[in-house]
Amino acid sequence: MFEGISGKKAVVTGGGSGIGKEICLRFGAAGAGLAVCDVDGDAAKVVAAEIKEQGGNARAYGIDVSDYAAVQAVCTGIAEELGGIDILVNNAGITRDGLLLRMKEEDFDQVIAVNLKGAFNFIKACCRPMIKTRWGRVINITSVVGQMGNAGQANYASAKAGMIGLTKSAAKELASRNITVNAVAPGFIATPMTEELDQATRDVYIAAIPLRRTGTPADVAGVCLFLASSAADYITGQVIRVDGGMVM
Ligand code: NAP
Repeated sequence: MFEGISGKKAVVTGGGSGIGKEICLRFGAAGAGLAVCDVDGDAAKVVAAEIKEQGGNARAYGIDVSDYAAVQAVCTGIAEELGGIDILVNNAGITRDGLLLRMKEEDFDQVIAVNLKGAFNFIKACCRPMIKTRWGRVINITSVVGQMGNAGQANYASAKAGMIGLTKSAAKELASRNITVNAVAPGFIATPMTEELDQATRDVYIAAIPLRRTGTPADVAGVCLFLASSAADYITGQVIRVDGGMVM
């Protein structure tokens, strides 16, 4: 029988904006209890308040995903306050674009620290409560550039490719505890992250998308909801592209 995520406890990183915000709102509307985590604690509070206004259950946490010790402490608190952790969505991400020869060391390190190490930090902290209950879902938001590479994004593409390796390794390690680990790879999604692109660059990307439009945060959130539901019970270690057919 199909079961949604009503009553499940979900942690979403980068939940204050863009794709993460939409995932929080969709999960909240589906009846999950939410820990909305974001480095911008005020943005997380706004999203948690919106979920509560709609009758849902949510708390906000200001947390930098790249801070290992802080993440372990916050997740211990989340498990106590929400009454467990069933679902983790590693969505927090940043870009610091530049051509390889000009890329600063700190821009490489920072992008790896947030996108890749941040996901490791949260998986490590959240999988313990999942192991206890013998049920869990981990969803890592990677990117199509982690599979295809992208000029000007050596740091970001490396981090996102690393997330795919992390997804597959964690899927193998955690399967025996009934925890699935999958990655969702968006293409070009209209969010604050992509809004600084000029129209000419936008047009080039759209021309390469068979569905001839940019994606929306809802396009990505719907796939995350599916992966968190019982409809995806037998899916683990996969990378699901949500890109309008950009990569085939
Ligand atoms: P976004 O609107 O910029 O949202 C990212 C969120 O993560 C922001 O709220 C940001 O906070 C937060 N964040 C940044 N650094 C953090 C940290 N150290 N700790 C905790 N939270 C942090 O971007 P988005 O487009 O929704 O991206 C969401 C995810 O999708 C990212 O992993 C991104 O790489 C991935 N993705 C996006 C696209 C796209 O086309 N948009 C395509 C493929 C993959 P601040 O706003 O305060 O920095």
